[in-house]
Amino acid sequence: MTDRPLPAGLHRDTLAVRTALERSQYGENSEALFLTSSFVQPDAATSARRFAGTEEGFTYTRTSNPTVASFEQRLAALEGTEAAIGASSGMGAILMMCMGLLKAGDHVVCSRSVFGSTLNLIGREFAKFGVETTFVSQTDVAEWQAAIVPGRTKLLFAETPTNPLTDVCDIRALADLAHGAGALLAVDNCFCSPALQRPVEFGADLVIHSGTKYLEGQGRVLAGAICGSAKLVNEVFAPVVRTAGMALSPFNAWVVLKGLETLGIRMQAHCAGALALAQWLQAQPGIARVYYPGLASHAQHELAMRQQSGLGGAVVSFDVVGDSPETARENAFQVIDATRVLSITANLGDTKTTITHPATTSHGRLSEAQRQAAGIGQGLIRVAVGLDHIDDIKADLLRGLGTLA
Ligand SMILES: *Cc1c(COP(=O)(O)O)cnc(C)c1O
Repeated sequence: MTDRPLPAGLHRDTLAVRTALERSQYGENSEALFLTSSFVQPDAATSARRFAGTEEGFTYTRTSNPTVASFEQRLAALEGTEAAIGASSGMGAILMMCMGLLKAGDHVVCSRSVFGSTLNLIGREFAKFGVETTFVSQTDVAEWQAAIVPGRTKLLFAETPTNPLTDVCDIRALADLAHGAGALLAVDNCFCSPALQRPVEFGADLVIHSGTKYLEGQGRVLAGAICGSAKLVNEVFAPVVRTAGMALSPFNAWVVLKGLETLGIRMQAHCAGALALAQWLQAQPGIARVYYPGLASHAQHELAMRQQSGLGGAVVSFDVVGDSPETARENAFQVIDATRVLSITANLGDTKTTITHPATTSHGRLSEAQRQAAGIGQGLIRVAVGLDHIDDIKADLLRGLGTLA
């Protein structure tokens, strides 16, 4: 069916529910799920042109699929990039990016505070292939600058805000550094999503997503994506997916495509809950410190408000009191184990509020020295605020906190 073309200049909320490939001949209002591995060709000559890439048309789902393409177009519209490409997971997207951009002898500068698997993928796996990485402070731009190796540095990689301490980096400053060195800046935008933060508006070249989190929004499937220029997506990343196979499943693409429709209002609700929780936590017994970009006490509060549409995100972390690491850990476990509502799981981006102890889960494989350097103490608890009522979240935490004072 030929749709009436969408007019230019639509608002992001409208793009989030409308951007997709054309409807099928049945005129469905909700986007179709094309659960097929291959596509039938009308004749051998058309098939040959499509396989050669001289004619548009679907051939095989590892290369492209209408449901995946609809997700890619919608995400690109929200991030404000020319194009996007799906991946099987957030890590699949980062693998695709590194395979596409890097070769032996190249150098990467990466924040020390990025997602743990990202640290391992770039720092350990790609080191095996001769890619060297320097890990630097999330917030000290001078350290990023000093780490750049002229001629060899091809990529700067950051994530903002970070997990679990919510440190915020200055995207504009890092983009200027990257471009001055002839390198690209990639930003993992998982924690904010395009509803809050669009890194390309601050000069980033590539935006990485774990669609598993807020884009999907209900904790059901894994997904990932890279957003960037049409040239990079079509000429650098698409050939990597076709060859290496970290393709996004059409089913997962469909779930995340539908998730994008409610992303804006969900993020507003997540952020309102997180701000209320952070403010309340500051006044509770048994708390040593609260980390949340929306609080005036946060070290990069003003930068965060400028970069994140004035919102702090949905992740709140806090240190419980404890005279020694052992006591702090006991207290943290007590608070976590006293909950009856929150889900004890390391995931985030779900409607269900989650609570986790980073030092023994997401950061459990670091040495104590590495953890201390990263500021992740034994008393640290991370809460990813879902859509539970804020009063129920507070009451659930108070069960344990009330016993610490
Ligand atoms: C979860 C996460 C990833 C990895 O995504 P998967 O979809 O689990 O592979 C990458 N970056 C950040 C910031 C994440 O939270």
